[in-house]
Amino acid sequence: MTKRNESFDFPSTFRWGTATSAHQVEGQQTNNDWWATEQVGGYIYKDQRAGDACDWWRHAESDFERMAAMHLNTHRLSIEWSRIQPQPDKWSEEALLRYREMLEMLHDRGIEPMVTLHHFTNPLWMAVLGGWENENSPKWFETYVRKVVSTLGDLVNLWCTINEPMVLLVRGYLLGNWPPHQRSILSLYQAGLNMAQAHVAAYHAIHEINPGAQVGLAKHMDVWSPHRDWIPTDHLVARLVNRITNHVILDALTKGEVRLLGRRFIQLENAVDTLDWLGINYYQRYRVGMKIRNILRTIFPKLPADIFYHGTKPGYQKGPGTWGEIHAEGLFDTLRSVTRYNLPIYITENGIPDKDDVHRPRFILTHLHQLWKAIQQGIPVRGYYHWSLVDNFEWGEGYNPEFRFGLFGVDFETQERIPRTSGELYAQICKYNSISQELITEYDPELLPQLFPQQSTA
Ligand code: BGC
Repeated sequence: MTKRNESFDFPSTFRWGTATSAHQVEGQQTNNDWWATEQVGGYIYKDQRAGDACDWWRHAESDFERMAAMHLNTHRLSIEWSRIQPQPDKWSEEALLRYREMLEMLHDRGIEPMVTLHHFTNPLWMAVLGGWENENSPKWFETYVRKVVSTLGDLVNLWCTINEPMVLLVRGYLLGNWPPHQRSILSLYQAGLNMAQAHVAAYHAIHEINPGAQVGLAKHMDVWSPHRDWIPTDHLVARLVNRITNHVILDALTKGEVRLLGRRFIQLENAVDTLDWLGINYYQRYRVGMKIRNILRTIFPKLPADIFYHGTKPGYQKGPGTWGEIHAEGLFDTLRSVTRYNLPIYITENGIPDKDDVHRPRFILTHLHQLWKAIQQGIPVRGYYHWSLVDNFEWGEGYNPEFRFGLFGVDFETQERIPRTSGELYAQICKYNSISQELITEYDPELLPQLFPQQSTA
């Protein structure tokens, strides 16, 4: 008889958490570039505004209580730069105090904070001065980081400098649907270089102030698969997109340079080994390829240059709108692909838009199973932060009901929290540091043969 594997146990030091960001949960943000975009209209679902969001700026405590009740031992939250430094020459001691209070509340509940210093939003004054395109932006960021770390560093050991730089660059500088609403490769390149330098400056500053701190960055990693398996150019596009969107920034911050086609393309000063850990935000898989017929059409023009395919494959589970395929194995593949950096890893985000909570329980079980498999193979994953604890303001999707990520639902009229089954399930996993057969039997029995195949051969 095959030996039975009764449960998937995680290392005793494993950290279980949830993730949020300031603009998405705090409410009453009126001094950053997303606020400015909200005023303009035309960029956000039904022209909605973040407004009170989840009201954390006034009342975070009850959600922190929820985390504790779920047995979480960590939470990733972000600090809003525009609150700390409302003007270039002005600091808000009141805001720093409020963050101190929030961090203390987490510690009091046995929840270690991971703090993100930049999660998509820029202070208005910085945006007006050209944002990340301004050559002084790395210096501005460093000054802000020094202030935060020297004031709150006694409460934080895990710092995440910047969330998903590549997502911000693509949406803000290429697609133009996020601030600063540009469509220019040159601006993207300039802003990207400055963000990388800002990370480097912040890394060294944090270590100078607090040598024991652990500093990393949250990197969004999509899985890119060829649209058609039998077309070599689709493979080529997939490899290229993977290389550019998933690895260029990580190469720069580990090796201090980016090489493309064997040639040094970018060199960054002081950037070698400026990651103590690597954060992975994993959500989905996309299919990509090349529309060869359209290339011919562009050579013999008149028709628009719609050359690349980017989407999903029929028959595969996918998220709403332009969201990609839900693909748990992709988490394992992604983790394997970053072993080359030789760094401890945190899953800094992973989640699914699913307001009715129909798919989330299975999403959690299958993704955590892949994570467990990766740890079994020696990949050093230290923790997992589910996105998100509560439904919140989803950037361009605003409060679109299709884009609800919470383990708790939120009624944004009343601020009522609505428990979801997936939250209950996640709490059980965190409590026992394990996914047991009983748990799967209780929450998703159809998954048993997939996760415990040896049972059917016993
Ligand atoms: C971002 C979050 C966002 C989540 C879901 C991540 O890319 O960091 O801010 O809410 O995805 O779309």
